[in-house]
Amino acid sequence: MKNDFDAIVIGAGPAGATAAIRLAEAGWSVALVEKRDYPRRKVCGECIAATNLPLLDALGVGEAFREIAGPELRRVGLYVGERTIVAPLPPLDAGPHRWGRALGREHLDTLLLNRASALGVHVWQPWTVKHEQREGVLHACDLVRTGEGETVRLRAPVLIRAHGSWEPEPDAKASARAPHRGGDLLAFKGTYRDASIQPGLLPVLAFSGGYGGMVLGDHGQTTIAFCIRRDALRAQRARNPGRRAALAALDHVQAHCRGVRDALAGAIQTDDWLAAGPIQPGIHSPWRADGSFAVGNLAGEAHPILGEGISMAIQSAWLLCERLLDHADGPSAREASPLQLERIGRDYARRWRGQFASRIRMAAVCAHLAMRPQAAGALLPILQKAPSLLTLCARAAGKVRQPPNSPVGRIPDSIHNGATP
Ligand SMILES: Cc1cc2nc3c(=O)[nH]c(=O)nc-3n(C[C@H](O)[C@H](O)[C@H](O)COP(=O)(O)OP(=O)(O)OC[C@H]3O[C@@H](n4cnc5c(N)ncnc54)[C@H](O)[C@@H]3O)c2cc1C
Repeated sequence: MKNDFDAIVIGAGPAGATAAIRLAEAGWSVALVEKRDYPRRKVCGECIAATNLPLLDALGVGEAFREIAGPELRRVGLYVGERTIVAPLPPLDAGPHRWGRALGREHLDTLLLNRASALGVHVWQPWTVKHEQREGVLHACDLVRTGEGETVRLRAPVLIRAHGSWEPEPDAKASARAPHRGGDLLAFKGTYRDASIQPGLLPVLAFSGGYGGMVLGDHGQTTIAFCIRRDALRAQRARNPGRRAALAALDHVQAHCRGVRDALAGAIQTDDWLAAGPIQPGIHSPWRADGSFAVGNLAGEAHPILGEGISMAIQSAWLLCERLLDHADGPSAREASPLQLERIGRDYARRWRGQFASRIRMAAVCAHLAMRPQAAGALLPILQKAPSLLTLCARAAGKVRQPPNSPVGRIPDSIHNGATP
């Protein structure tokens, strides 16, 4: 059994799978460790922004994505109180795929993982990284087969952390967990069929103490995903003791958003509700002092009100791999000294901030407006008179243009046009 690699990637969400694919394509030997069995569902609104579709092509999953994803998202909505406001969602300003679409994470993440595996990535699944340490210039990761006692140690000079931000880090002590706070945002997702939601509409839900979204995705399934403050959920549960947290949270959303009530009246729940969190919005650390790199949510997380998390996961992994591949001599990174890796890390962290910090700030402003009924209420009359302001907001949120330093600008046209790399 092989234990030594050029890179170890922890976590096979969109960030980790992207990193594994990019490095394997460049000839690196990669271990990708994922603690859960796939396909697995995940708390997520599952909307993939149009800016990301060329990257899915470049990763070799674009065609499969288009085959199963839901309808093109051509309109944006706002469900707040008794009101529903709808406006056109502007198309991406260039490229063959002009609108985003939604695809269940049980499908998207599996597509990416299968692609990585087909490229020769050594997939350790379901294995959990429990402990890490340095062995000279190498990172050593101790894995445990999830739910069993079997252990193994993997080593590599490059360690990429892509294990998301909602679960404890490897080596985290239970006592190190942050205490519960009323302002914590807990996340929930439910899936339904026969919901009354127009195909291609992407409503944002704004309600006291939270925000969220709904969408018709693959296989005629509607996803509703939202974040709610812990204190708002607690108050709701006090009104109906014994009610499950997810259902109490949904009660709260439905009480505050008529659009959700109407859409789910008569809809049939297709799977158990999922819960996660508290989410950790903000800029974390793309490069760590222990010499490891972070991508996806772990590097930085936007409030999920603009549906940018998957894009940021894929794009940050892409950005890091560009840096690693630019700097490394030849196909293997084994030759890169710790000093070289540190230079790559600092460069990556600087570019990461240039590409993502403003998206994180913009999402924070939108999230805080949505969670405050007074603020949303003050804006409503204006939005009702001019729904096109919603279209402008979508533009400002980066839904129509690739960011200037996005890797998409450097993907060859053949890939932009849907050809398999
Ligand atoms: C309510 C809500 C709605 C959202 N809606 C959208 C949306 O519509 N569009 C959008 O783009 N984004 C959305 N997001 C954000 C999106 O879900 C995340 O940004 C995205 O999942 C981040 O991807 P990632 O690869 O960084 O991490 P993750 O997807 O969290 O993947 C991390 C992986 O690491 C694994 N892992 C963790 N620890 C270990 C370990 N020790 N060993 C091995 N494996 C490990 C986990 O099992 C997991 O599979 C939403 C988020 C929320 C909360």
